[in-house]
Amino acid sequence: MTVTRTVRAVRAALADRRDGTIGLVPTMGALHDGHLALLRAARASCDTVVMSLFVNPAQFGEPSDLNGYPRDEERDLTVADEAGVDIVFAPTAGEMYPPGYQTWVDVTELGATLEGIHRPGHFRGVATVCLKLFTIVRPTLAFYGQKDAQQVEVLRRMVRDLHLELGLRVVPTVRDEDGLALSSRNVQLTAAERTRALALPRALQTRDPETARRILESGDLVVDYVELAPFDPPVLVGAVRVGSTRLLDNVPIDEER
Ligand code: AMP
Repeated sequence: MTVTRTVRAVRAALADRRDGTIGLVPTMGALHDGHLALLRAARASCDTVVMSLFVNPAQFGEPSDLNGYPRDEERDLTVADEAGVDIVFAPTAGEMYPPGYQTWVDVTELGATLEGIHRPGHFRGVATVCLKLFTIVRPTLAFYGQKDAQQVEVLRRMVRDLHLELGLRVVPTVRDEDGLALSSRNVQLTAAERTRALALPRALQTRDPETARRILESGDLVVDYVELAPFDPPVLVGAVRVGSTRLLDNVPIDEER
């Protein structure tokens, strides 16, 4: 596995691999089995697998959220290597946003609903970094998790609107045995908070926004929103705060229970 830190180095590592298919798995690290599902899907369908590992400052609001985001690069590189990743692209923030940087992509309507209301500028940061990764890596396919359903929707819109020549592949949400969707943020939960957090998957399983809200509010969680979203596929999506941790999840409403 080759680890690259600069745009120039990742392009050089890809130069003689462009005859085959290239799969890109964008991550912010602190890898878990959800990320592994994406890496496996990429490994199964692409000649070359590139994983990016970049905690993108542009998609964070509060500096405390960015600074507190879990990081463990050494372990991530071992996990990526074992998953068969060919090339890791782990740039610094300065490599991606050098002094003078001022170009942004905004998916104006989709990016301003749901998560966009509670995290202004979040999807502008996501769309911009993904477009940059797409132009740097030039993947045949990019792999994303259904866990972040609105992110997928925003990126699909960007790919269509900008005529980008790549395919998006969406991998089902990976959950712990107790139903909680895997997330790098779960390590921030205390044992008691984790138990309270289980109300989120339980509420979404009802597929009914009113019932879900009742379950969440009686479970001592702060509900940012819980709503049906007309995505592909349609989902019941919810975001809650448990202590200082914010959790996001969704359930496709036409999926078998
Ligand atoms: P992140 O590192 O949190 O930015 O996530 C990187 C990618 O992994 C995104 O496409 C996420 O949607 C996906 N992902 C995160 N958690 C899960 C999960 N529990 N199941 C499936 N995919 C996930």
